[in-house]
Amino acid sequence: FAKLNLPSTEEYQKRKVALISELLLSKGYQVHGIIRRSSSFNTGRLHHLYEDQHERPCLTSSLYVQRSTRALLPTGPGKFKLHYGDLSDSTNLVYIIAQVQPTEIYNLGAQSHVKVSFEMAEYTGDVDGLGTLRLLDAVRTCGLEKHVKFYQASTSELYGKVVETPQSETTPFYPRSPYGCAKLYAYWIVVNYRESYGMFACNGILFNHESPRRGRTFVTRKISRAAADISLGKQSCLYLGNIDAQRDWGHARDYVEGMWRMLQQDTPEDFVLATGETHPVREFVNKAFAAVGIELKWSGEGVDEQAVDVKTGKAVVKVDPKYFRPAEVDLLLGNPAKAERLLGWKRQIDFDTLVKEMVEADVKAAKSLVED
Ligand code: GDP
Repeated sequence: FAKLNLPSTEEYQKRKVALISELLLSKGYQVHGIIRRSSSFNTGRLHHLYEDQHERPCLTSSLYVQRSTRALLPTGPGKFKLHYGDLSDSTNLVYIIAQVQPTEIYNLGAQSHVKVSFEMAEYTGDVDGLGTLRLLDAVRTCGLEKHVKFYQASTSELYGKVVETPQSETTPFYPRSPYGCAKLYAYWIVVNYRESYGMFACNGILFNHESPRRGRTFVTRKISRAAADISLGKQSCLYLGNIDAQRDWGHARDYVEGMWRMLQQDTPEDFVLATGETHPVREFVNKAFAAVGIELKWSGEGVDEQAVDVKTGKAVVKVDPKYFRPAEVDLLLGNPAKAERLLGWKRQIDFDTLVKEMVEADVKAAKSLVED
């Protein structure tokens, strides 16, 4: 592979070109995303950022990005570009990196569903584990290892069957799923490439982070959609798995700011991002239904546990064992002290506000029949 003709690391970094992220557009970056080819339309969560310049030329001069302040910022054409690619395809990763010459890479690509990872363990290991290696090696192949800052989406799933609570950067890992095991490999290969080749590579160990854009099969979004649909008479009952599981749920908008801050440090380090609070799934359910004016009353135990709408007496939440996992992560609670100290990062959006925002977005979407 012909080496690229590169300026000094300092000059190179001034260009601010990143692979992935909306926040970065508002910070003036040129952003490139990698998208998997699919026969069905799969840019629903990006279309507010992206317009095809050939099909809709009139829109290219009025692209907008929504910032966390809710202000609308014009970004201008050419600030956001999608490339077809896949973490299982090394040649393609090398090609994209050589073309884009990014200053920062955010590796958020993964098969990220824990339950699905039990059914597609090899695929998950390939994409989430080896995919991270392929991306790091693509950077090296292009001779960019001293020029690129690399963010790896590590996860609280690494703690799995937790050996201490709360979990911090020094807590030993004990993954409980093929997803957790694949991410464990990715975590260590990032550390190894940092130590072996002096790459600026960081692991962000992020606890669950949610928003109205969360995929529908994750528990928070599944609940917020069901609360919306049940309140509008479009669904009668929500079926869940282990409602005793506890998670440290934060808002994704806060977490992307923390990710960016990790790459603005002088030295690469690993950080936990978490709220420092944990809540059972059952509490998320109660608050989501309260947000649409439905009060719940719980009864029964284990697989027979259910919640009825106090007003109508109808069962609206039931347990279905098909959603249980072969091995479960019972409790996650993060300690974000290091990020608070070194990055000046703190979550801004609390649990109740998060639940309300998700439910309200789903009510609005259900009323206007908008699908994401
Ligand atoms: P995870 O923390 O990455 O596994 O995120 P999820 O949102 O998929 O799951 C969070 C927790 O909710 C886990 O402990 C699940 O076992 C539990 N849970 C209970 N019922 C459900 C369900 O119906 N779907 C999902 N995805 N999780 C559920």
